[in-house]
Amino acid sequence: PDPLGVHLRAMGIGAGYVAVEAADVTESHRLARVRRDFVANVSHELKTPIGALQLLAEALLDATEPPTATGPAATPAATGTTVGGAPGGDRSEDVLAARRFAERIQHESTRLGRLVQELLELTRLQGAEPQPAPEPVAVDWVIAEMIDRTRTTAAARRVEIAVTGERGITVYGNDNQIATAVANLVENAIIYSGEDTTVTVTTRSDDEFVQIAVADQGIGIAPTDVDRIFERFYRADQARSRSTGGTGLGLAIVKHIASNHGGRVEVSSTLGGGSTFTLRLPARPPDDLEATLQSAGI
Ligand code: ADP
Repeated sequence: PDPLGVHLRAMGIGAGYVAVEAADVTESHRLARVRRDFVANVSHELKTPIGALQLLAEALLDATEPPTATGPAATPAATGTTVGGAPGGDRSEDVLAARRFAERIQHESTRLGRLVQELLELTRLQGAEPQPAPEPVAVDWVIAEMIDRTRTTAAARRVEIAVTGERGITVYGNDNQIATAVANLVENAIIYSGEDTTVTVTTRSDDEFVQIAVADQGIGIAPTDVDRIFERFYRADQARSRSTGGTGLGLAIVKHIASNHGGRVEVSSTLGGGSTFTLRLPARPPDDLEATLQSAGI
C-alpha cells in the first residue's frame, strides 16, 4: 500500500514525474546554495578592496587639501606630502594634479561600490536567497522610508515629491524590498527630470492589488527604449545616463522585486513628456496552501 502513490495516481501524476521532480528539487537546492556562496564570497572579495580604495582616496584628499584662510596651513611642506614632482620643481601644481586624481579615484570607487552592491542585490532577488515570507506592510511606512532615502537627491535637484491617494492601506510582502522598489522609481523620476519639477506619488488599493504610481515631468522615454529599460544595464541614452552616475540596474531590481511578490511594474511614457511607473503589489496575503488543497478536496 502506498497512500501517497495512490493519491498522486488519482491526481494523474505518475511515479516517473515525481522522481524527475525530486531530482529537479535537489538540483535547484544545490544551485541556490552555489549562488548563496557566490554572493557571500563576492561581497567579501570585492567590497573589501573597494572600501580600501575609498579610504586611500580620502587620505590622499586630506593630505592635499589646499590651505584655507582661517585653518592651519596645509601646504605640501607642512603636511609632508610627497606626491610626484621633481625635486625643486613646482610642487603645488603636482599636488593639485594629485588631488584631482584622488577625487576621480573616490568618484569611481564609489560608483564601483554601488555597482557591486546592486549586482549582489539583484543576484539575491534572482533566487540566491529565499524570498522572505510575506508580511503586512503599511504603505504609509513605505512612503516615509522612500522620502527618507531620496531626500538628498531631491534636494540637490530641487525636485518636490508630492504624495496623494489613499492612506492607511496595507500591502503584503517584504518591507525592505518594497521600500527599495519605490525608492528606486522615485530616484529615477528625480534624476531624469529637470530642476524645480514635481514627482507625484499616488497610492491606491483595490481588492487584490495596491498600486503605487510614480509620475514625473521629466525627459520621458522613446517607444523604442521603453520595452528594454527593465533589462539590466540597459540605458535609453548612454551619455546622459552615464552622467547621472546610475548603474543601469535600478529598474531590473524593481522588476524582480515586483515579480517575487506576484506583482508587476508598468510604465507609460512620452519622449519629452514625462513618465509614469506603476508598481502593483498584492493587497492580500497569499492564499493559504492548506486551505486551497482542502477546498479542492485533496
Ligand atoms: P540607471 O542607473 O541608468 O538609472 P535604471 O535601471 O534605473 O538604470 O534605468 C534604466 C534606464 O531607463 C535609464 O538609464 C534611463 O534611460 C531610463 N529611465 C528610467 N527611469 C526613467 C524616468 N523616470 N524617466 C526617463 N527615463 C528613465
